This record gives sequence, structure tokens and C-alpha cells, in this order.
Amino acid sequence: MFVGHYSVAFAVKSDRNRIPLWVLFVAVQFLDYIWATLVLLGIEKLRVIKGFTAGSMLDSYYHPYSHSLIAAILWSTVAGIGYKLLCRRLGYQYRKSAALIVGLAVFSHWILDLIAHPRDLAIYDDTWKVGFGLWNYRDPEFALEIAMLAGGITLYLARNAICIVWKMAVIGFGIALVIVQIGDTYVPRTPLSDKATAMGVWIFYTLFVVVAYLLERTRCEKLES
Ligand SMILES: [Zn+2]
Repeated sequence: MFVGHYSVAFAVKSDRNRIPLWVLFVAVQFLDYIWATLVLLGIEKLRVIKGFTAGSMLDSYYHPYSHSLIAAILWSTVAGIGYKLLCRRLGYQYRKSAALIVGLAVFSHWILDLIAHPRDLAIYDDTWKVGFGLWNYRDPEFALEIAMLAGGITLYLARNAICIVWKMAVIGFGIALVIVQIGDTYVPRTPLSDKATAMGVWIFYTLFVVVAYLLERTRCEKLES
């Protein structure tokens, strides 16, 4: 699962919880940020194998600290508490239950990975591995990612009062994410090394976070009539 994770970020943002979209963009990929960091440090292990599954070259054969179920629950808790502290520090308005929403956004990553990944997600440590393996079916997996993203953006546009120009900007961002997913799923390429892949994760995910930040900064509050 790649851009499908962002559907959750779009879907849960509302004018009531006021969680910045960029925070949710970090949240839904928080486990992958930890994973990429641990791969760079040589603690978690990744092989990049052409044709490993139809939809992905990633053989994450050892990632207990970022992607086991127990780790996911722990990181979700840490992120929820962290968000409350972040609000205090940055002077963001903290709305009730926002920490819970951020924590659930982090946890959604594991649920969506469970659908896409082959059996490489441990329940705890490195044992009892699960994964429904939708990545073995390239087109349905791709369709699910795009459908989820479209659904998330539709909810986001419906729940956040915005003007037409800004709506177009959000849709434009959605289209850019679809193009990235097409490139990832369908464009043949030579496998990168494990470390280069982890660097790429950091760079691309952070780029999306920056775009999400800029999007909401330039948001126009006026409703179209
Ligand atoms: Zn992941």
C-alpha cells in the first residue's frame, strides 16, 4: 500500500478536529518513516527483488520494530501523545479526541499494509506473520489504492469549507498522487538497493508532507456561493 494510506489522512481531517493535514500525512506513514530509518541504520532488513510480488518489489523480511502489530499499537500511542505535546509546543488549537484520531491514523497504516503485504507482518517480534497479499494482484491492488484516495479526497472536500480554486488545488494534488502510484505500480525499473529505497521513502513522503502543509496554508476560507 502506498498512496492509499493518504486516503485516511484526507478522510479524517475536519473543521471540528482541526488536525493539520500535514500532521495526518506524517501519521498515516509514521510506521514507514520508522521503517525507513531503521533500514538505513541496518536494524531492519529489506530486499528489493524484481517481481517479488506483482505490485511491489519490496521483500521486508525483517521489520519487527516498525511493522509488527504490537509495535504498531505502541507507535500509535506514542504518536497520539506526541500530537498533544506538539500542539502545546507549536500553539496549535487542540480539540478533544484529536490525539485519539492521530493515533488511529497511525494504526490505519498497519491495517492497510495487512491487506496489501504478503505474509511479512508479525504479530509480535518476528513471529506469527500475517498479510493478505493483495500485492500479488497488481490491477486490483492499484484500483483499491486509487478508489480509497478518491474516497478520502471526496470526504475531505465535503467536510472542510473551502473555495473553488482551493478545491482544484486539492484535486490537483490527488491527481499527482495517482501519477506517482502509476509510476510505482506500472513503470518497470531496475531495483534500487535497500538503503536507496529507504532514502527514497524519506524524500517522497516528506515532499508530500510539505505539499499538504502548503495546501492548507494557502487555503481560502470563503465558501463558494
Ligand atoms: Zn508500511
